Amino acid sequence: MNAYLIPLLRRGLLLAAVFMAAAAPAAQTIRVPLSDGFDIPVGKPDGAGFYVFRGYYPGGHLGEDWNGNGGGDSDLGDPVYATGAGVVVYSEDYLRGWGNVVIVRHAYLDENGRVALMDSLYGHLDRRMVRKYQLVKRGQQLGTIGTAHGKYAAHLHFEMRKNVNIGMARTAFDQGYSNYFSPRQFIGARRTLRSGANVVVPVDTFQSQGGSEVDDAPPKPIELTRPPDGKNKSVPVPTRDPVKPAAPDRDASPVEAKTAAQREAQLQKLIEENRKKVELMKDEDLDTFWSRLKNKLEK
Ligand SMILES: [Zn+2]
Repeated sequence: MNAYLIPLLRRGLLLAAVFMAAAAPAAQTIRVPLSDGFDIPVGKPDGAGFYVFRGYYPGGHLGEDWNGNGGGDSDLGDPVYATGAGVVVYSEDYLRGWGNVVIVRHAYLDENGRVALMDSLYGHLDRRMVRKYQLVKRGQQLGTIGTAHGKYAAHLHFEMRKNVNIGMARTAFDQGYSNYFSPRQFIGARRTLRSGANVVVPVDTFQSQGGSEVDDAPPKPIELTRPPDGKNKSVPVPTRDPVKPAAPDRDASPVEAKTAAQREAQLQKLIEENRKKVELMKDEDLDTFWSRLKNKLEK
């Protein structure tokens, strides 16, 4: 290469680097109060009325699935709360297997009295009620339990991450304990923590891929036809396309028509039978599992 070109090239590269630095969004930080402890994000503060249908499993299921004791969609529209104080770093409809997702970043004092960060993720939400960069209090409502646009029976998919760079790119990171906490273990050990101080927390530490970048307004809430007593009754699963309510089949004898309660009992039985299998299942495979279950029930 011609010798006098090299300094020119070098200057060009430098200019390019300066330009790129100017174009890149500045790294942002937000002052956040240390969380004074952590709670179960449904049936607050202890998860009353809910149970874990699937737990955290390294490399398989990266969070906990919380379901209402009534089973099925009995918990559709129930409130989802921030597990601790923090700042919302993600609030979008990610679509695909996720639906509406909220991620809250928490700062807390670890066992050694050092400030640590943790991201809590709330997936499959029906409604989101918080916006990115919003400060939230422990126990503040973030949204409602949903079905990921009719993909699953209503439940909350709840993750806790040590690594604040994961965001929605879970496959790019190790899926073990180096990056994730087992939520009930984490919460159980940190119900009450020393707090009282504000700390500066980085935000925008991951790419928000896909989803609705611009319009993150909560979608229109699904009209619920919840029975007056509101408990332990099945609510029809909303699907992406509005489905006509099933007309009563004139040829079907009343004996054959399954009541909601029967279907519910059947679902619980199937869940019990498949519990071990489901614990080890990846989210992608759960799709198929749920639709098979639904088909079985509709027979
Ligand atoms: Zn899940």
